Amino acid sequence: MNDAVIRVAVVEDDSPIRSLVCEAVRRADFVPAEAETAGMGLELVADQDIRLVILDLGLPDMSGLDFIRELRTWSSIPILVLSARSGESDKIAALDAGADDYLTKPFSVGELLARLRVLLRRAPQEAISQVHRFADIEVDLVRHAVRSGGQDIHLTQTEHRLLSVLLTNPGKVMTHRHLMREVWGPAHVEQEHYVRIYIRRLRQKLERDPARPDHFLTETGIGYRFQP
Ligand code: CA
Repeated sequence: MNDAVIRVAVVEDDSPIRSLVCEAVRRADFVPAEAETAGMGLELVADQDIRLVILDLGLPDMSGLDFIRELRTWSSIPILVLSARSGESDKIAALDAGADDYLTKPFSVGELLARLRVLLRRAPQEAISQVHRFADIEVDLVRHAVRSGGQDIHLTQTEHRLLSVLLTNPGKVMTHRHLMREVWGPAHVEQEHYVRIYIRRLRQKLERDPARPDHFLTETGIGYRFQP
């Protein structure tokens, strides 16, 4: 198989939407692989060299959430959910099940492609270097050193842990719950205000304009996303 070809699975039972998404994928120079059921989608990922899955939640043979859970037992391939369900609880359930991003229908093709590119840019986690750079910030996660324009920035242990979780998941929406569990531990998952307080601190230390952040973005009602 040609390594230069990037195959994107489009798992969607609504054929006009499937065609639209496939056309967009083609226009971005990726190769779409279509599936109209969850079962066909799982087979596609298992059998072909698929790099990303675009997934509808309402499928005839299996719920999209079950699809995500099933796929996550054997693959960490990026999943972008495309759904008519716009409720926060639906987004949170999909992200908690292991989806990487969520776009609500109707969607703009430009936004779909932008999100797709971000997810594809994410290197496999084990390959990510421990030094991360964005804007004029340099973060060495191993040495716990943060510099901004050459100046050392002091972070507390908790700030550093939160920054580390965000930096190693670039472009990915992280739910409040997930961040709480990763940074403060499972006993604190209900105390979402901790996350807000610490995100504010990171913005104050690392954003050019903390009131209008470029990198530590709020996903209203859901969580946060680090944009390199
Ligand atoms: Ca559907």
